[in-house]
Amino acid sequence: MSDVRRCTVCGRPLTSPASRAHGTGPVCARKLRKMSPKARRQLFPVDDVPTGPYL
Ligand SMILES: [Zn+2]
Repeated sequence: MSDVRRCTVCGRPLTSPASRAHGTGPVCARKLRKMSPKARRQLFPVDDVPTGPYL
């Protein structure tokens, strides 16, 4: 498969469909939610903050 997505935070391959949809793994997504909006914007300039039921 060529559709290997990687976590935008740590660069590890995302295995679950939910993680791929958000671009971050569950662990990093949890970290991002604790981050300040300013720090988050450096990683997600488009304000694409990962949220989901898997968090
Ligand atoms: Zn990650």
